[in-house]
Amino acid sequence: MKIIVLSITPYKEKDGIVKAISENESLTFLARGIKDPKSKNAALNNVLTIADIELMEGNFAHPILKSSKPLFNPLKVDLAAKYLASLMTIDEMMLNLFPEDEQQVMFSLLEKAVENLKNTGDWLMTLLQFMSHTVKMGGFQLEVNQCVLCGAKNNIVTFSFSDGGFICEKCYQPEIEKDLTKDQMILLRKIVNCPDYRLKSSDYKTEDLMVLFDKFSHYIEEAFGYHFKNMRLLIDSK
Ligand SMILES: [Zn+2]
Repeated sequence: MKIIVLSITPYKEKDGIVKAISENESLTFLARGIKDPKSKNAALNNVLTIADIELMEGNFAHPILKSSKPLFNPLKVDLAAKYLASLMTIDEMMLNLFPEDEQQVMFSLLEKAVENLKNTGDWLMTLLQFMSHTVKMGGFQLEVNQCVLCGAKNNIVTFSFSDGGFICEKCYQPEIEKDLTKDQMILLRKIVNCPDYRLKSSDYKTEDLMVLFDKFSHYIEEAFGYHFKNMRLLIDSK
């Protein structure tokens, strides 16, 4: 069974209780020797590792790891601070924005996110797209194809995160936020409509990406009622 590791809690001296998702469910299991670098299970001791595993029932509250074969390791040799902070933020979102029995809805989007992050090193666009997928799967889809209030397709004048979408000229009221530039609104539309991770930061202005990154983070905090813990590392560090 293919799984993605979400958390490891130390248990006894060298064992760990692992929380993970497969395509169909979220799982908790005991991994013997996971904290021992010489153990064949040691590869699972990093969050967002993808592995093929087999479990067995034993004399324990959770199933026990019988065998594991690593398929993907999210860590890199030249580990940049922002790369690591991005992994932490993705894992943080998985653990905190979804109830444990619903985390698996993100399985393939999560798998593609960590692969894309490692292959491209493009932390900013990977995170923006992962955030957009999270918002959608969490049931807070933003309307970027028409006015969120009346459905008009033309004369869009602003994007309002508090109203959840584009606003047309007719529906616009002075109290509605109007702080994104036209380029930022077009980029936001591309991100929200993107079904995977095909967009690249290098095609856009960093400033626009950072504005949307900030907006998306706040939107997620409001919508899911959650406060990010690892986000500062991404905004402050160089
Ligand atoms: Zn309207």
